[in-house]
Amino acid sequence: MKKESETGGICSSTEAVHAGESRGHWGHSLTVPIAQTSTYVFENTQAVDDFVSGREARLDYGRYGNPTQHIAEDKLAELEGAEAALLFSSGMSAVTTTLLGMLSTGQHALIMDDCYRKTAQFCQMVLRKFGVETTFIPAGDYKRLKGEIRENTRVIIAESPTNPHLNVMDLEQLVAVARAHRIKVVIDSTFATPYNQRPLAFGVDLVIQSATKYLGGHNDLIVGAVLGKAPLVSAIKDYRGILGGVVDPHCAYLLIRGLKTFPLRMARQNATALALARFLEGHPKVRRVYYPGLESHPDYDVARTQMRGYGGVVSFDLDADLERTMAFLDRLEIPCIGASLGGVESIVSHPSSISYYELSREDRLEIGIADELVRYAVGVEEAEDLIADVAQALEAV
Ligand SMILES: *Cc1c(COP(=O)(O)O)cnc(C)c1O
Repeated sequence: MKKESETGGICSSTEAVHAGESRGHWGHSLTVPIAQTSTYVFENTQAVDDFVSGREARLDYGRYGNPTQHIAEDKLAELEGAEAALLFSSGMSAVTTTLLGMLSTGQHALIMDDCYRKTAQFCQMVLRKFGVETTFIPAGDYKRLKGEIRENTRVIIAESPTNPHLNVMDLEQLVAVARAHRIKVVIDSTFATPYNQRPLAFGVDLVIQSATKYLGGHNDLIVGAVLGKAPLVSAIKDYRGILGGVVDPHCAYLLIRGLKTFPLRMARQNATALALARFLEGHPKVRRVYYPGLESHPDYDVARTQMRGYGGVVSFDLDADLERTMAFLDRLEIPCIGASLGGVESIVSHPSSISYYELSREDRLEIGIADELVRYAVGVEEAEDLIADVAQALEAV
């Protein structure tokens, strides 16, 4: 997948509505039934024997699988172009189970510094405790990345685009570096979604999604996913059964429901975010806009060849101090102030106070989290309404 013309049909609404579902559900139900069960029963002891000896593949206990969850996984695998998918109780459960499964004591991982805060903390607090070292690399510094590879490096972890600065990794380069050293690449593709980018097509080994965001799309569930080739995914599935981060059947159903409109929503959110980014870029009270769909973004060329759209998040520095930035946020009438993104409701976030409040101001500035930085995650409201609202709030400060 490279050019727009080659992405036709990928992640289409036809797939989103139908993939993974067979006709003929229980009771002739059109929609997928929710198998709200913790366990599965055997007709007799012979059936138990058939199961444990591997003669019959079936479910035995809810921590290892559920029919509703399996349909959600199959649908997601189809959309991502993956052989297999696993759902988890959260995006972080997907991240932590994957890394615990892939890394052993004495091994080393490389991770981009512009990554999800809790992923970084997992490396610093949990992996380190078990004797796995991680080195943080400035996002996009491929020379540094090569230089930090060690004999025992097993995994490269990156996000693309990143949060909140929307840096885009060159997946082709990343995979080339990793391949040369037989290192696996894990990409957290939450901000791109399979609609905009399919990392597996570039040779990435595993894709992680926080389906809490665009895939669920309604700000009403917490769920994560890991996708990739069947053998690697199967190995991680064993760890999921041990670590226990399974998704509940009702949540799996909500994800299936959300996925049916995912391509519609994503196309809309791509278009709205681009329009908002262009508006902000031309506004005198905005110092800088971070959006990979803008020609002014340092990764625009990579994004253009690697992505179909640029996602629904626009970050920007106001030409203002902390007090006036807060006043701007309070003046906005449509978006809510909050921490998440990707749903139908627009959400604005103030990264320095919402996500990075425990760092000192100096430490925040070092990683580009200024007091005047705003992250705007567009929902599916009308673009012109969102832009008019931003315009009046800028006018007022
Ligand atoms: C939200 C998010 C996560 C964590 O997902 P949860 O579902 O909240 O556990 C991981 N990575 C990225 C990029 C995210 O935005």
